[in-house]
Amino acid sequence: MAKEFNAFEMAQGQFDRIAKPLKLDAATRELLRNPMREFHFTLPVKMDDGTIKVFKGFRIQHNDARGPCKGGIRFHPEETVDTIRALATWMTWKCAVVDIPLGGGKGGIICDPRTMSMREQEALCRAYAQKIAFFVGHEQDIPAPDVMTNGQHMVWMLDEFEKIHNAKYPGTITGKPVGLGGSLGRTEATGYGVVYCIREALKEHGIPFKKATAAIQGSGNVAQYTLDQFNQLGGKVIAIACWDNNDKKPYTYRSKDGIKLKDLLDSVDKFGTIDQKKAKKLGWEKLDGNAWLEQEVTVLVPAAKEGVLTKDNVGKIKKSVKVIAEGANGPTTPEADEIIFKKGIHLIPDFLCNAGGVTCSYFEQVQCNMNYFWDKDEVLDKLDRKMTIAYQGVLEMAKKEKVYMRDAAYMIAVKRVADAAKLRGWV
Ligand code: GLU
Repeated sequence: MAKEFNAFEMAQGQFDRIAKPLKLDAATRELLRNPMREFHFTLPVKMDDGTIKVFKGFRIQHNDARGPCKGGIRFHPEETVDTIRALATWMTWKCAVVDIPLGGGKGGIICDPRTMSMREQEALCRAYAQKIAFFVGHEQDIPAPDVMTNGQHMVWMLDEFEKIHNAKYPGTITGKPVGLGGSLGRTEATGYGVVYCIREALKEHGIPFKKATAAIQGSGNVAQYTLDQFNQLGGKVIAIACWDNNDKKPYTYRSKDGIKLKDLLDSVDKFGTIDQKKAKKLGWEKLDGNAWLEQEVTVLVPAAKEGVLTKDNVGKIKKSVKVIAEGANGPTTPEADEIIFKKGIHLIPDFLCNAGGVTCSYFEQVQCNMNYFWDKDEVLDKLDRKMTIAYQGVLEMAKKEKVYMRDAAYMIAVKRVADAAKLRGWV
């Protein structure tokens, strides 16, 4: 039987590859390849039918050598502790590569919000906030939204946290709605950041953005705003792949004329399922779920989940593809990485490519701490600058060391964290 994909093993493997050239000592390796702290909770919640359901939740703090831990909270029925461990680890590298003064953490609850009422979701959020109330905070660990969580979930958690501590601490959680401590531009930030990186990569390859086309896997927040910025810069997104929660399988929707943000927002529900009738009316072709990968495009953007580009399917990528931009966390398996490297496709690694979200979260925190909020242009301008500097740094390292972009990003991020741990006298 084929070995099951394990995101944490993959994250540790990626780290181990880099520990050697960076000549990290044994203690530093041991410290950085494992999370510092883990919290595992049971969460009893009264459901609408009067029964009590006991959910399982986690908050994992991978490393705080460079600052408080930072990272989202996911709601997913297939969540596992190892996925959260991997994601917490990647958050450490993500904050380090864009050079923001934060460490890495991640949380998750094994649940399916698609089948829960708003009241049940609120009760679950409050139960989770009660459990983490003394382990998170703007000086310890700052949660944010992630897969199937949004600003509303964050506000419920913050409200519970503030009740427990009897004071207002808006910098405790980011990704809050604008007007309630949220930052303008936070909704767009991850997707826009992905495209700022793509823009730089296309420049490097001498491809005018106006000639670029893309296929995106995903239909949620990251995919939506990647599509928006890609179109705004003059490119064309011709395919979007998403999970269909009614048919319980994925589809790719293709439009040779390009998919517009407005049409996508009009046809997608809040969990990412595209309405088949609306898609038909828009003239989008409905194809197999994996067809996004086989399109004759310049750029592929996996922006859905872990482990989707594998040794079995990367061979299907067309010669036209010059850039793979990892909007999701951990979409490419190590075997697929090797093939992509050999093919000479320019890969923008996840923790660099999708760092726009956490960078804007950091801006949100800064604004909350000052209690003074910037206008949207100011936020996006700062975001673009941070992402571009980080991208150029990684590119320079990749060229200098003649390594894959993922390895270059790891070399920069791991060194920053290892140096911080050393300066603190931990190792
Ligand atoms: N969940 C997002 C990520 O994986 C954002 C995290 C944050 O804003 O803290 O990068």
